[in-house]
Amino acid sequence: MNIIVIGAGLSGLTAARVLRDAGADVLLIEAGAQIGGRIRALYEQKTNEYLADLGPTWIWPKYQPVVAKWAKTLGIETFEQFNDGDAVILGYGPAPLRQPLPGQNGMVRIVGGPTALIDALSNEMDATNIRTSTPVSGIYEDGSKRVSVYLRSGEILTAENVIVSTPLRVAALRLEMPWAPQALLDAMRRTPTWMSTHAKAVALYDQPFWRDAGLAGRIASRTGPLVEAHDHTGPDGTTAAIFGFIGWSPDVRQRDQDELKRAILKQLTECFGPEAANPMDLVVQDWATNPNIVTNLDLSALANHPGVGPAILRQAHLGGRVRFAVSETSEISPGLIEGALAAGERAAKDVLAHISHEF
Ligand SMILES: Cc1cc2nc3c(=O)[nH]c(=O)nc-3n(C[C@H](O)[C@H](O)[C@H](O)COP(=O)(O)OP(=O)(O)OC[C@H]3O[C@@H](n4cnc5c(N)ncnc54)[C@H](O)[C@@H]3O)c2cc1C
Repeated sequence: MNIIVIGAGLSGLTAARVLRDAGADVLLIEAGAQIGGRIRALYEQKTNEYLADLGPTWIWPKYQPVVAKWAKTLGIETFEQFNDGDAVILGYGPAPLRQPLPGQNGMVRIVGGPTALIDALSNEMDATNIRTSTPVSGIYEDGSKRVSVYLRSGEILTAENVIVSTPLRVAALRLEMPWAPQALLDAMRRTPTWMSTHAKAVALYDQPFWRDAGLAGRIASRTGPLVEAHDHTGPDGTTAAIFGFIGWSPDVRQRDQDELKRAILKQLTECFGPEAANPMDLVVQDWATNPNIVTNLDLSALANHPGVGPAILRQAHLGGRVRFAVSETSEISPGLIEGALAAGERAAKDVLAHISHEF
């Protein structure tokens, strides 16, 4: 049985892993130069040591059974989000306020960041079964119980089954799928891709100096550019870092990167003192510039957290040979890491059940 999985984010990699464990011949095709999708890390250039997350950071294994199961299977370790001390609150008075803010029950970070999940899932796959920098342009009926996958390069691949693990709006707008029913395309277009319009900033320091001043490294701000920020230091206290979500809209923040960085440093200094003005590095990851993740539909109206989408997103199409499996298709925690693991696992098991029925 040969299966093509389109998109090597967490859901695609999870699907590939379940299929591979069942003895299937799986090929993962990824448009981007690297795997991981919305999961991405900042690495030390020379040593390749993990420094910080540029995509997701938190999981809630206490409340997320699928994450808890996969973390155990993959040997993933977690640690508490640091939240000791006061947060700095901006925009609620003439001067910054200091007060503790409650953390979220059960919210933890992954040692090595969520890329540890990507590494663990991909490490055991044969590298020849993952093709990066290979955008898919269309999925067609092949006629002979097979599906044709057209690559943008002009190459055509065929498979018995296909799992589409790209963001739903990306698939609906950028992949040719002439067989797709209108109701499916409508449901896909209506499903925002969680966090696809967001940007994250990470400032790296020698020491988590804010902790000595009784600060949690946390900011809640009405003024920005960071609307919220958190301590992002590693579990052993090294690679001291603060990360924050940028509240400026994509067009404003993309106008002048230097201006954006100056404004972030000014805000960090206002909150944490003069030491914050000179980080070892300040990196901005703007997800709204990645055409493999975001579409104009996402950019035209800022989305709430996705709810559970209609059943058609989880059904098989094209005679049972094509399924969709990105986090937003999940019935459990759509849009989150938990949703990606659940969606990938569900689609792979559905493919295996479909194959066993055929024989
Ligand atoms: C800034 C940020 C913060 C977040 N914070 C959290 C958090 O703290 N906790 C949490 O649980 N979740 C968080 N999330 C959400 C989480 O990252 C996602 O739910 C998860 O990574 C989705 O994985 P996925 O594989 O389903 O989709 P994606 O990661 O979107 O993967 C889709 C893949 O498809 C590829 N692709 C697209 N088009 C094509 C094509 N034509 N051909 C081939 N490949 C294609 C893309 O390049 C991508 O690799 C955050 C996301 C972001 C961006």
